[in-house]
Amino acid sequence: MNRLDISRNFFGISELELQEKFSDWKVETYRVHQVFTWVYHYHCRDFNEMTNLSKSLRSQLAENFHFALPQIQSRTHSKDGSIKYLLELEDGAVVESVWMPSESRKTLCLSTQVGCRLNCSFCLTASLGLKRNLNTAEIIGQHLAINAELKEEDQITNIVFMGMGEPLDNLGPVVGALRLMISPQAMKISTRKVTVSTSGLVDKMKAFQNENLSINLAISLNASDNATRDRLMPINKKYPIEVLIECLKQYPLKPQRRHTIEYVLLAGINDSDEDAQRLAKWLKGVPSKINLIPFNSFDSSEYRPPSKERVLKFQNYLIEQNFSAFIRQNRATDILGACGQLAAQSEASATS
Ligand code: SF4
Repeated sequence: MNRLDISRNFFGISELELQEKFSDWKVETYRVHQVFTWVYHYHCRDFNEMTNLSKSLRSQLAENFHFALPQIQSRTHSKDGSIKYLLELEDGAVVESVWMPSESRKTLCLSTQVGCRLNCSFCLTASLGLKRNLNTAEIIGQHLAINAELKEEDQITNIVFMGMGEPLDNLGPVVGALRLMISPQAMKISTRKVTVSTSGLVDKMKAFQNENLSINLAISLNASDNATRDRLMPINKKYPIEVLIECLKQYPLKPQRRHTIEYVLLAGINDSDEDAQRLAKWLKGVPSKINLIPFNSFDSSEYRPPSKERVLKFQNYLIEQNFSAFIRQNRATDILGACGQLAAQSEASATS
């Protein structure tokens, strides 16, 4: 058997797990901090180079762990400056991540599953079905692999879990990845700069809340009535809008924080004046800001974006009702890198 088959990928190891390991090995626990500093702050990928550790500890670490990052298979550049990465995982599965620059931030949109099982009717990822969950190492590995090739001024500052998959449908590995991202010993990213998007898995939202991570949540709502949401997002049959809204009202938030409500606007489906009125009613009392995202059409989709006038009217109504409502243009639309369009094209085209 290959040594890699019996050693574990270090990028999936939490501080607690390493502490337990060191305690078994009768190694002082402060050494955990030293190892994490080498790996996450000095980007060291060889235990033998960790010169403040004893030779025997370095050998023990090398026998038990290896370092593996997703391999970048391709980069597709968008006219808006975004880059869509196709990444190959250790078993040959592929996922996509999108790096999106703006003046104030560089955001990476990460994947959490190969495909997705939630079958939202406007989403290209859904057409893959769920192939498998990513593990913690594969989730943070997207960030580490991409950041390693970016210039200093392009380094990732913000992370959104909005790529392939429903993050809360893969809760354990996602929480493991988030803990490593926000840990001062590991990736040192502020909780304010990380957002997890969910289609509204209410039971998992409650479990996520119990993890006390203080991570921003974005809720993909996309409809103002249950019949329409059932059609767009079948998960609504299990957790209808009233249940989801109640969960949001109960969800504890840190001061100054709000939930993000994502609302993809689809012409003639969810963009009427009545929709805006119902949306405002649902969100009364929910600390939130609303992102209105005109749909970016793709060939096989039955949906189209609304006119600019319709989008503005929808937004104006919400603003008149004292909501913070923003029109968000999808990024990387020319390279199918927008929300709900990540489907690892090489795989999609191979199976079509
Ligand atoms: S929109 Fe999100 S939750 Fe829905 S099918 Fe696509 S990836 Fe899954």
